[in-house]
Amino acid sequence: MRETLETLLATGTLTSQRIIECLEHKAQHLKEAQRKKQAQETIFLAQELRTKSKPQKKKCMNCGYTNHTGPECYRPGGPLHKMKQKEQKEKKEKAHAAEADSSTGETDSSSHDTAAFFQQQTGRTFDD
Ligand SMILES: [Zn+2]
Repeated sequence: MRETLETLLATGTLTSQRIIECLEHKAQHLKEAQRKKQAQETIFLAQELRTKSKPQKKKCMNCGYTNHTGPECYRPGGPLHKMKQKEQKEKKEKAHAAEADSSTGETDSSSHDTAAFFQQQTGRTFDD
């Protein structure tokens, strides 16, 4: 049975020597607890450091987006921004060109009408 101050008091065997022994025993326990706490703190610190040293998630230094990194940034200020703009411009131009193509047919027919109109005008001029 472990002797504590309480049990020694209860059994009436409490002497100064017993008190010292008991306190020393308690001090030893506290030391161990302290050591355990420090060990746990060290483990925690080690884990934290390991977490911190893990490769960081992709995050853009330019715009802060997490789906790409700085060198891949296509937002204003990023190296791919101009490329993206060019791409978009080309797309726009292509769409515009397609529009122009479809309207070319109309222009042709209207120019044909214009030619006919001028022919009529010329003919009329000749008639006069
Ligand atoms: Zn970015």
